[in-house]
Amino acid sequence: MRDDNCIFCKIICGDIPSRTIYEDADFKVILDASPASKGHALILPKEHCANVYEISEDLLAKAAKLAKKLAAHMSEVLACDGINLLQNNGEVAGQTVFHFHMHLIPRYKHMKNNDLLVWTHEEFTDEEQDQICGKLQMKE
Ligand code: 5GP
Ligand code: ZN
Repeated sequence: MRDDNCIFCKIICGDIPSRTIYEDADFKVILDASPASKGHALILPKEHCANVYEISEDLLAKAAKLAKKLAAHMSEVLACDGINLLQNNGEVAGQTVFHFHMHLIPRYKHMKNNDLLVWTHEEFTDEEQDQICGKLQMKE
């Protein structure tokens, strides 16, 4: 299903051009137009779903498998020193395009913005951590 107002749906159907590095029945993988590093790529499921809450488990599992294959391929071809897999959900989490996508961000030891994705740490008391742990625990 496609959303006519979605920029990634337009890229997937070819209405907006992109640099495509991989395509199959379920996914198109493109270079990010505003890359955080050399080779920064985005895995786009062809079916429009906004985020991790909407994507089906099956499609998400396929995306994870593809991410693993691409990570190996990119690591070999780019000779990068590491790769971040990143996936944002919701504006507050940094999502700007509301069509599920997974970022593959190759990392290089001597990259100029190597503090990319480094966050500050919040302090919680042991009681607060116990409380949040209790709240989060879930059954299989
Ligand atoms: P988000 O912040 O939603 O996780 O990531 C959206 C990403 O899509 C950003 O890194 C942004 O640079 C990329 N992007 C936005 N519009 C376009 C576009 O038209 N073409 C391509 N190739 N990337 C885009
Ligand atoms: Zn879309």
